[in-house]
Amino acid sequence: SQPSQFSPLKSGKAEGLVSHVGFDTNPVVDFHGIDQKLVDKMVYDALIWSSLHGLVIGDKSVPGSGNVPGIGMVHAPFALLPMPFPERHWKQACEVAPIFSELFDRVSLDGKFLHDSLSRTKKVDSFTSRLLDIHSKMLEINKKEEIRLGLHRSDYMLDEQTKLLLQIEMNTISSSFPGLSCLVSELHRSLLDHYGEFLQLESARIPGNPSVSRFADALAKAWVEYNNPRSVVLVVVQAEEHNMYDQHWLFSVLKERHNITSIRKTLAEIDAEGELLADGTLSVSRQEVAIVYFRAGYTPNDYPSESEWKARLLMERSSAIKCPSISYHLAGTKKIQQELAKPNILERFLDNKEDIVKLRKCFAGLWSLDDSDVVSKAIERPHLFVMKPQREGGGNNIYGNDVRETLIRLQKEGKEEDAAYILMQRIFPTVSPTFLLRDGICHKDNAISELGIFGAYLRNKDKVIINDQCGYLMRTKVSSSDEGGVAAGFAVLDSIYLT
Ligand code: ADP
Ligand code: MG
Ligand code: MG
Repeated sequence: SQPSQFSPLKSGKAEGLVSHVGFDTNPVVDFHGIDQKLVDKMVYDALIWSSLHGLVIGDKSVPGSGNVPGIGMVHAPFALLPMPFPERHWKQACEVAPIFSELFDRVSLDGKFLHDSLSRTKKVDSFTSRLLDIHSKMLEINKKEEIRLGLHRSDYMLDEQTKLLLQIEMNTISSSFPGLSCLVSELHRSLLDHYGEFLQLESARIPGNPSVSRFADALAKAWVEYNNPRSVVLVVVQAEEHNMYDQHWLFSVLKERHNITSIRKTLAEIDAEGELLADGTLSVSRQEVAIVYFRAGYTPNDYPSESEWKARLLMERSSAIKCPSISYHLAGTKKIQQELAKPNILERFLDNKEDIVKLRKCFAGLWSLDDSDVVSKAIERPHLFVMKPQREGGGNNIYGNDVRETLIRLQKEGKEEDAAYILMQRIFPTVSPTFLLRDGICHKDNAISELGIFGAYLRNKDKVIINDQCGYLMRTKVSSSDEGGVAAGFAVLDSIYLT
């Protein structure tokens, strides 16, 4: 046959192309060995594909791109080819998704556990303290949340040395990228359909990724449970949102497949336009709200004044379904993650022994800073730890020498500020050669990845209506970077190639 102009071989020889990229035993292409001409061609095709299929974000360099749809769009940062990932760890992550959702539902019901676990943190972290205040008010009025909707994402890294799939965190609020992640999987499938032959990669080894349709289905089923055909979904957003297309994807699918209307409002707008009717109904600009879906409100920056807190309380007091409720939000904090990893705590919430074993297998080392042995160890070898405050959204953690310095400072001050943080074992995933695309430019680099599994949970009183794995988000970042957020500019969207 005709030698292709896109021969993946730099040297024209077969040896060296098929190598073992880190993981198990199956051969996978060494991406950096792919012929540059083929790379260029795939980059071009991928950029066109993403523009035509809505794999886009707002371009921060263009004014208005965070507010006005259709202005200043740029392709979302993505990896050119899917990241090799062992099938057994993929299956493991999918298998535990519904167990984690059940766990968080149970934890959210235990107000005493939430308050006891966060009692020291409350004194030094004013954001967590305000969330707890809202939760206390709900306990006081004995607020019942009969319909409970969770749209979660549990994130993992595969530790190279131990080959253990370890949970980074569980996101119970504003789990991002259900809209764009499925597009990346489609993009990769389309590239492999065209070029897989040259690369010796099969598109069928990229698992299907139904995240957007599954999340839309879950919202639709919750809306049906609420049971008012005229009601809408309220999407709580930031005033400026460069990741708006990820959100618009979800709500356009909700509209097209389920004919459900959504409205987007900031917390300030909800304070101005929202009211609580006598029967508990939440009404915003005179529309009845069935579901409040938060894509804002997870960071103190979203509450610049009292008016945003008033809006949060108003929604919480209402009979609308909250995704998440204040108790789900609190259950997803780093401090609770650390408390759940303590001996005999899972047993408080789950009955099934096998389920407990499965979850515990995913727990990395997690410690409170009142454990002086661990603090000494972390001061000695700070690169083996990550220090985390009670924050979401990326860019908040402390790494390397900063861990040592912060711990020493906290020790000297001798105040209770240490309760704002937890310590976590640092996970070191396999480093793999990859191509990262950002702003139309392709960067060849070595990278590590984090796998997120979306999970939906819907319950009405005793009836569990949905508890499913809902697709995935793979994020890849250069191995020299500590943090991992895509929106924060550290990582790119990716998909997985099962090995
Ligand atoms: P956030 O809620 O802000 O996303 P995360 O706990 O997910 O906080 O931490 C942000 C990022 O930091 C992760 O996406 C990951 O890249 C990195 N990270 C967090 N914990 C660890 C860890 N234990 N080992 C290595 N990297 C970590
Ligand atoms: Mg998070
Ligand atoms: Mg995270």
